Amino acid sequence: PTMAHSKALLVLENFIGGKFVPCSSYIDSYNPSTGDVYCRVPDSGKEEVEAAVKAAKDAFPIWSSKSPLERSHILNKLADLIEHDLEAFAQAESKDQGKTITFARTVDIPRAVHNFRFFASSILHHVTECTEMPTMGCVHYTSRAPVGVAGLISPWNLPLYLLTWKIAPAIACGNTVVAKPSEMTSVTAWMMCKLLEKAGVPPGVVNVVFGAGAKAGEALVCHPDVPLISFTGSTLTAWRITEKSAPHCKRLSLELGGKNPAIIFDDADLSQCIPTTVRSSFANQGEICLCTSRIFVQRGIYSEFLKKFVAEAKKWKTGNPSDPTMDVGALISKEHLEKVRNYVKKAQAEGAKVLCGEGVDPLVLPPGNQKGYFMLPTVIAEVKDESCCMQEEIFGPVTCVVAFDTEEEVIKRANGVKYGLAATVWSGNVGRVHRVAHRLQSGLVWTNCWLVRDLNLPFGGMKASGIGREGAKDSYEFFTEVKTITIKH
Ligand code: NAD
Repeated sequence: PTMAHSKALLVLENFIGGKFVPCSSYIDSYNPSTGDVYCRVPDSGKEEVEAAVKAAKDAFPIWSSKSPLERSHILNKLADLIEHDLEAFAQAESKDQGKTITFARTVDIPRAVHNFRFFASSILHHVTECTEMPTMGCVHYTSRAPVGVAGLISPWNLPLYLLTWKIAPAIACGNTVVAKPSEMTSVTAWMMCKLLEKAGVPPGVVNVVFGAGAKAGEALVCHPDVPLISFTGSTLTAWRITEKSAPHCKRLSLELGGKNPAIIFDDADLSQCIPTTVRSSFANQGEICLCTSRIFVQRGIYSEFLKKFVAEAKKWKTGNPSDPTMDVGALISKEHLEKVRNYVKKAQAEGAKVLCGEGVDPLVLPPGNQKGYFMLPTVIAEVKDESCCMQEEIFGPVTCVVAFDTEEEVIKRANGVKYGLAATVWSGNVGRVHRVAHRLQSGLVWTNCWLVRDLNLPFGGMKASGIGREGAKDSYEFFTEVKTITIKH
């Protein structure tokens, strides 16, 4: 009985109107580091989404009429409760997603906590506009109100981190929500639901419906009573969401994929640049939308850079994600691992050189992880700009390194992809970093650093990387409806 119990699957339930409700069918969820099914996720559809939207609609009048300060207290309480259980959340995120326990402990869960604290604070500090028109005897001002039921759809790479980045501003502004996390990583969202009542979140304010994108996600997108969809995921899914929401003229925020360049000039401080660029390429198995996957190095330092970069990449340890000494865990799924590996094969077929990682170095795994979805950090060189490895989002531990000669040339090449999410520029020349940053088609540009974020400022992509921005002011504007009122005195 003990064995049977320890092998029992974790079964999740939807959270609707403040209650956990079972579903009639389920989807298997895998532990990426072992390849075993360990969890069952509700396979929700129209019916479940309908119930969740109704609960959210019913909760809206009371929640939206609370003062920002009251809502702020509740968000802070929720942050405290998640923080109190940080280790349990981190363990769950690592097991469910394949990421290292260290990454979950230091990035995912702390950021989820911070998302609630950040919006609990920022919601208290917005001011609206006012103008006077003395000749007409008029005063104009704007007022902002929550929109209604917000539909929130999030991906599998940073599960709780990205979901709370949407839930926190949505409810801080007074909306109620129906959230649909990725079917591959639903566990931490379900754990968060268990804390909502204790935090003081009234029933129906946060509803979570688990299930597949094409079924549960699409039902949410198509629901006439959900006027707003905040989506983070792939560009392909965003097309589908845009199409499906068009008949309802929904308000959309789309945070999509990237093919992010790092541009390294010959005056860069390589002692900073190399470890940071290894991190920006391989952190979270390269499964971050902001990860670097095209590294342009000025010709004069190209060989030196490549040698040091490969040596540094080889130091990254790949293996059991629950071992805190590991740098790289497992990829999300068998299919995704296959897709990422295929990119490396295609590059080789085109004549590119794989300098380390996949197919070059031995991948040694503990017995318990032999069936997991692991791959070593892989560096590809001598690859053409037109190659699919330089054009398409791989979303795995693979990065390409190429040489360039001039500033003008590298800007053009860096901009030569359909995406425009994040870029990094490495140079000691202040004038140059400003010039290059201004000309890059990219929603975010980091110079001489990576992933340093101030949540106050806009986050989002250009071109195929998205529409809309999120951040203190941007999320406030997205999650509220503005009205202009004119008073004649
Ligand atoms: P995905 O588009 O496959 O899925 C994202 C979410 O959308 C999931 O919850 C999924 O179930 C749902 N979904 C799928 N089809 C749907 C449909 N037809 N209607 C409604 N919902 C649907 O993306 P993914 O594979 O989970 O995540 C990886 C992608 O996300 C990468 O492209 C990555 O760059 C991107 N991403 C972007 C950001 C950003 O902020 N820009 C952040 C993280 C990840």
